Amino acid sequence: MAATGRMAATAATASGSGVRAERWRNALILVVTRRCDLRCAYCPTVKSGEPDLSPADAVRAMQLFAERYGGGDAKLFGGEPLLVPEVVRAAIEAAPPEVNVYLSTNGTHLDDDWIAWLHAHPHVTLTLSLDGRQRDHDGLRRGAASHAPVVARLPELLRLPRFVVTQTIAPSTAVRAADNFRYLRELGVRRFNLLPGYYIPWRAEQLVALRESFSEIAAEFEAAWAGGDRLYLRNLFVRAPLPFYNTGFVVDSDRRIYANNLVLASNLDHLRERFSLGDLDSPPSPAALTTAASQAGAFLHDTLGASVMESTAAADAALTALCNRLYPAYFAQRERAATA
Ligand code: SF4
Repeated sequence: MAATGRMAATAATASGSGVRAERWRNALILVVTRRCDLRCAYCPTVKSGEPDLSPADAVRAMQLFAERYGGGDAKLFGGEPLLVPEVVRAAIEAAPPEVNVYLSTNGTHLDDDWIAWLHAHPHVTLTLSLDGRQRDHDGLRRGAASHAPVVARLPELLRLPRFVVTQTIAPSTAVRAADNFRYLRELGVRRFNLLPGYYIPWRAEQLVALRESFSEIAAEFEAAWAGGDRLYLRNLFVRAPLPFYNTGFVVDSDRRIYANNLVLASNLDHLRERFSLGDLDSPPSPAALTTAASQAGAFLHDTLGASVMESTAAADAALTALCNRLYPAYFAQRERAATA
């Protein structure tokens, strides 16, 4: 699963006090492999001709991150991370208790061994890419039939201690996003991460459909919380300074280090040399990472052009509006649960 993030939203509690209901923690983004057996229509990651990270380098990256930052979130991305199981396991086993580990997957390699291993590592949050009904899920994977095997595994996955489904919403599926969300709920999913397609063109009517779908999804959350159902939306707790990209300590599968994962994208691949800040033998200082991260927005605007940036900002604004609508209901249900 390719790596993605979201911009921030500021919330007000039900009692009216302003609260920054977000989390912007130190983050290690570990691209353990660029390879993937799927070809999702919305995926920008260059997948061919790249080395995999070695287990030793995955351990080195985790140790470096823990030494530098003392803790935070370590996110294992790809490509498809489960294509390099030894690298994933080495990285996770090297993570100290101060580091929260997130493992993203397209689900096609989740077998009995992996599920047993995840039960034995309950601190790991597994994030599964599942976009909704078969028509849209497999359609966005250009016909690759991953829906049936992933859904067949879902009952076991729902028993994992930390499990989140990422529902990606492409411009072409925005009109059915609420229906796909309801379908995932019917399958038993209770922990969601919503992800509109990013840095791609959205037509005006597709953005309207996205906003309408988010409004329906917001109503589903509000009704669930009002009824005491602890439905979870990760987007409420995630912040990134750059829409839909991850910033932090980014270690690519070739050992190079960046301030964000923009260089994974095929249309930005030629800029790798320019944006590399070092490698695992010669890592950058935290100050160099911070400076480079702050320059990424202007760079993206110059490189991708105004219309794609406007599309991305509009999709991100729709997601932020969804979060802002939900914060009061979220805090209200949290207070009810605390006093129950
Ligand atoms: S599963 Fe899809 S989004 Fe994830 S890396 Fe593979 S092609 Fe990209």
